[in-house]
Amino acid sequence: MTTPPCRYAVFGQPIAHSLSPRIHAAFGAQLGITLDFRAIESGRADFPAALATFAAAGGTGANVTLPLKQDAFALCRRVAPRAARAGSVNTLIRQDAEWLGDSTDGAGLLRDLRERQDGDPARRRVLLLGAGGAARAAAFALIEAGVGELAITNRTPAHANSMAAALGTAARVVAPETLASAGSFDLVLNATSAGHAGAAPQLPASLFAAGTLAYDLSYGEAARPFLAAAQTAGATRAVDGLGMLVEQAAESFALWHDVRPATAALYATLRTELDVAMHW
Ligand code: NDP
Repeated sequence: MTTPPCRYAVFGQPIAHSLSPRIHAAFGAQLGITLDFRAIESGRADFPAALATFAAAGGTGANVTLPLKQDAFALCRRVAPRAARAGSVNTLIRQDAEWLGDSTDGAGLLRDLRERQDGDPARRRVLLLGAGGAARAAAFALIEAGVGELAITNRTPAHANSMAAALGTAARVVAPETLASAGSFDLVLNATSAGHAGAAPQLPASLFAAGTLAYDLSYGEAARPFLAAAQTAGATRAVDGLGMLVEQAAESFALWHDVRPATAALYATLRTELDVAMHW
């Protein structure tokens, strides 16, 4: 009798274009692990029932994306310390008929920055745009990585202030209207979701110097407005979050299967496809 493949899924809305099923299928093929990984469309109201149905059908692990990361956090019996700090969960692990939550976004970002983008944030001046779940995960990861200076700014200052309070003295808030006097940064990370609506945060050109790495956590069309604005402002290096996507998926895969897949070949394939589709 053959054992049925383990059941995994990514939940979110919209989800049809998620690369996660393809990424996890490729990781499984690479390591000889048979798995069934699906994309399940779910909004916030539907998510608790959809997750319960998935668990009842034998679901053993899931990724969670927009807009469900805080909801996933609330549905977990226990969460890993890094997920508790970020206040969001992107990885669910079924243990003893309950969900354990973790957040692999920060680790995925760091690995991409260090190993693919020559962008190790240690001792660097970093500006982080945004104060949502991804920004929080990024901020804690940057602090753990020994960032030299972490400035955060957000459309709604109150959200940046509450994030800064959680981060402690390692970060400072810069009001959007004073960014012009903040100088230039080694790394400017866009962790806002503005690009999904075709917009970019309004930024002074003085934030970008010749060596600045401009990094958008989103990828594809959603990354285009910020990356284009950064390049116009003088940033010579501008990259999207495709590498982070692949690396956070590899971190989740390792949590589920106790083995971390290699990512270079898959990233190269996805990069080429996306660049062709985007005419970059
Ligand atoms: P959230 O909804 O939690 O946060 C959204 C943030 O964007 C808030 O700070 C919000 O500001 C800001 N924002 C939204 N619209 C605008 C706008 N028009 N102008 C300026 N700021 C705006 O989203 P997440 O943190 O979960 O995700 C943020 C981004 O990161 C998304 O693009 C997502 O795709 C990407 N991401 C990529 C990952 C990857 O693996 N590559 C992993 C996780 C996220 P305010 O507080 O004022 O509302």
